[in-house]
Amino acid sequence: MIPEKHIIYYKLKETIPQDGCPVCNLVNKNVKKYIENILYECVNDQSTNKSLLESNGFCQKHADILLTFKDAMGISILYERILSTILLKLENKNLKKTITTYNNFIQERKEKCPACLTEKAGENRYIEALFWHFTDLKKILSESDGLCLKHLIDFLKLADKKDRKKAEEMKKIYIVKNKNLKNKLIKLADSYNFTVKHGELSKEEKISWEKVVKNISGY
Ligand SMILES: [Zn+2]
Ligand SMILES: [Zn+2]
Repeated sequence: MIPEKHIIYYKLKETIPQDGCPVCNLVNKNVKKYIENILYECVNDQSTNKSLLESNGFCQKHADILLTFKDAMGISILYERILSTILLKLENKNLKKTITTYNNFIQERKEKCPACLTEKAGENRYIEALFWHFTDLKKILSESDGLCLKHLIDFLKLADKKDRKKAEEMKKIYIVKNKNLKNKLIKLADSYNFTVKHGELSKEEKISWEKVVKNISGY
């Protein structure tokens, strides 16, 4: 049974026509808001997100997003607490144990970065909504940038189990779109080769180099 159309469906419908993968766009927006809230809460309530202490801070991707807020006060309060717990864990340990503890930090951060977990939960929600409402959304999806490679695979994993036809259709949309992108890349690269004759580049061709990286490596 198709779940009733709810807010996620309308968010997808609104986001799909924009530049880039709609799932990446929505998830990135949510995760920024999530990080902003953590900063806001820690300054106001003097409480630290417990999971951030367990993960020994954000992973690199989310730490980079944190820094974009340039919130010196919030970040110093938050990271002073994280640093304190790290120093506690390292204190009174010999060198060998210090190295092992550090390696554990890296592993814990990979598994527990709260922004990564939030991101993953959001991805699952949007991919599921896209699956359930695929029939309604496939037209605008095929006219937009479509899904990035990672989210295509997430969709295919889900659809392969529940509805093969949707999986095949989504794969076809991706292939058609990206053959098109490939041709734009060829034209763009040719435009730098003065021995090849070429016409004026379209706006889409001019930005195809950015689109391909985001499509393959994520937004
Ligand atoms: Zn994506
Ligand atoms: Zn993360």
